[in-house]
Amino acid sequence: MSRTGRSVEAFRRVPKLLRQARRRRDGRPFAELLTQASWLCLQLGYPDAGIEFVIKARQRWTVLGEIAGRARAQAIGSWLLNEVGLIDEGFVEAEAALDLASKVEDKGLLAFAYNCKATTLALCRQDGLGIPLFERALALIDPDKNPAAAALYLTNIAFSFVSLAELAEAGGKVEEGHGHRRRAIDYTRRAIEAAEGCGDLWTLRIAFCNGAEYAADLGWFDLAQDYLDRCEQLPGETGFRERIHFLFTKGDILRRLGSVHEALPLCAEAAALGEKSNNADIRSQTLRRLADVEADLGLFEQALEHFRAFHDASTWQMGELTRRRSIIAEVQQDSERLRREVEDYAHKAAHDSLTGLKNRRKFEEAVTSLGGAPYVLGIVDLDRFKSINDTYSHLTGDAVLQRIAGMLESPDFDWQAYRLGGEEFALLLPRATMDDARAAGEHLRRKISCALWSDLGQGLAVTISLGLAERNDRDRSTVMAEADRRLYMAKSRGRNRVVSDDSVDTFSYSA
Ligand code: GH3
Ligand code: MG
Ligand code: MG
Repeated sequence: MSRTGRSVEAFRRVPKLLRQARRRRDGRPFAELLTQASWLCLQLGYPDAGIEFVIKARQRWTVLGEIAGRARAQAIGSWLLNEVGLIDEGFVEAEAALDLASKVEDKGLLAFAYNCKATTLALCRQDGLGIPLFERALALIDPDKNPAAAALYLTNIAFSFVSLAELAEAGGKVEEGHGHRRRAIDYTRRAIEAAEGCGDLWTLRIAFCNGAEYAADLGWFDLAQDYLDRCEQLPGETGFRERIHFLFTKGDILRRLGSVHEALPLCAEAAALGEKSNNADIRSQTLRRLADVEADLGLFEQALEHFRAFHDASTWQMGELTRRRSIIAEVQQDSERLRREVEDYAHKAAHDSLTGLKNRRKFEEAVTSLGGAPYVLGIVDLDRFKSINDTYSHLTGDAVLQRIAGMLESPDFDWQAYRLGGEEFALLLPRATMDDARAAGEHLRRKISCALWSDLGQGLAVTISLGLAERNDRDRSTVMAEADRRLYMAKSRGRNRVVSDDSVDTFSYSA
């Protein structure tokens, strides 16, 4: 719905959907919905509510460990922060979003993150830096497959070119400014085409209003009027942010055409909407415009009254900025702590606490992630470990396990080692041949049996048995069973040996 400009309607459904999603065990739909709600708030002009949604969404995505979700929430967050005038905070958020987005394989998300960073740069008047990022965002998406994104990025580039034009004109470079303005119109035209093509009414309304403004700035009032007319004829309920944008633009153009009388009711309607919005920024902006138009008309008493109201609103707005800033700072700290906690839990869930090796769950994930690729798998079991515990104490047994883990992870070997449980370990050798695996296993066996263990207990000796099996297009449980069987062959043949095939006369080694 939000993609086709039915954001008002979509937003009405959010509370009920949130209640439903909250009841589900799977946390993803809830996080998804919070993120989507923040986007709707941005579209409709409720930045404060949007920031609250983003904060909650970020927390959910963090707990779920979903980088892509967090990146998207933070990208929207950066835009919302810009909307309420917290440009520095918006910039930090956009950087973080881009950083996260570049860690996942999702071009659309990366494009969106570039767009958000560029938007922040545009608001800081760093268009020279922002425009290449908008262009990168555009290059990352396929406009035929994602016309709504293309429309949005084209609209935003156009905005940056107008800023460049203003900068050039302020420096006396009128011709250059003119060129930038024409490019802004070109981009807007393309944005309108893309948005019309996919029915994205939200972007279309923005592009029409912006286009009208840019056209009026060039003195092309016919085009401006055409854009405004087409905007007004669009179907569907408009959000209040879009409505104010439209009233502003139309009022402004009428003023410039000398029809100040006609502009007055539009500015009054905008101010009334602003009053209702409870949004300090919009309230002060709309009052200011209204006061200007009234002054133009010689209605000085009313202009003074509205100018005073504007002054109050902007004072309040400053206070709002400070309040928001302190909320954001607090949330930033909370979120950092939450992220560390989640990382900590994730580490604990993946690792064995005694040896620090990855655990059985991780082993299974690793085998699964190899898909159809070949590998050799080894199962290591300590020999007569029970008697080590009995003779030297359980604590000594623990120390032996820890030292063995260290040896398994030595850079001598390029396998991945896991603790399967007890005194059993798995070795995973992706793409290795059985010959390589046998040589490495033999090296390990000798290293352990030749090591000096007496510092852990007088007369202590440790040996291992190892069973190896090759993948050969079989499923994991068959390969595991074969490695296990060979491990027990090694045991029954006297331990301290490596078995890599089923022949009876396997070599037996002595330490
Ligand atoms: P075999 O050569 O046939 O493998 O003999 P074994 O004694 O190693 O085999 P068994 O399975 O009988 O004994 C394994 C022992 O490992 C029993 C258990 O107490 C001990 N064990 C399992 N986990 C730990 C641990 O975390 N720490 C210590 N110290 N001992 C452990
Ligand atoms: Mg065992
Ligand atoms: Mg054992």
